[in-house]
Amino acid sequence: MKTPFLLLGLGLTTLPVLAQQNDPEPEPMRPGMSEYWNPKPAVVTPGVTMEAPSDAIILFNGQNLDEWTTDKGTPAQWKVEGNVMTIDKSKGDILTKRKFNSFQLHIEWRIPKDIQGTSQARGNSGVYLQDMYEVQVLDSYENPTYVNGQAGSVYKQTPPLVNAMRKPGEWNVYDIIYTAPVFKEDGTYLYHPYVTVLHNGVLVQNHTEIQGTTEYIGFPKVKKHGAGPIRLQSHGDPSAPISFRNIWIREL
Ligand code: MG
Repeated sequence: MKTPFLLLGLGLTTLPVLAQQNDPEPEPMRPGMSEYWNPKPAVVTPGVTMEAPSDAIILFNGQNLDEWTTDKGTPAQWKVEGNVMTIDKSKGDILTKRKFNSFQLHIEWRIPKDIQGTSQARGNSGVYLQDMYEVQVLDSYENPTYVNGQAGSVYKQTPPLVNAMRKPGEWNVYDIIYTAPVFKEDGTYLYHPYVTVLHNGVLVQNHTEIQGTTEYIGFPKVKKHGAGPIRLQSHGDPSAPISFRNIWIREL
């Protein structure tokens, strides 16, 4: 029975000392306490105007379609002329040979000045992220359509916040920041994909949660996937084909 008294005795004498050692007066905050200096963000040289920064992968610089292929794995054959590529609707979609996870993508596109047609049949194309999720490309200059299918929409899901469309014949710019999803074992999302889109420098998708695939008919489907290419849509609408230029991407 001596032990508990011994411990009690020890406790009475030592605990205040221990308390003093474990709970020192907090040091007053200094500026340096909330600063960290490493790891340092990599230094990159920003492009002048819309030019690619130094760490970008150039997907199209006006010279050739070497970075692009088709669903059949054959060379992409859209027309390249004067630093611009133009859809050849007889050749179908093109997609990058490279596959990507999360990224920042810059792409410029132009609706022909003499475009005809209405609603979805007027300059329809699209930028597919990881070959799964379409950011719509369309002539949305004075061309009503369903709003979750106009330019800047996550197709059939989320309309753009505003309509920042330039006139046919002028160049539009998309800057797309995409966060790839993470899947559970059962093939459902642990984390959804997210997308932020600037259309001509104007925010049109603000960290938008993507619900699933961007289906023409029906609602989004969740399909497990990994890294994927960027796909550019050759849409079957009868209007004149649209053009692209200055396409670059930064992996995140
Ligand atoms: Mg489309």
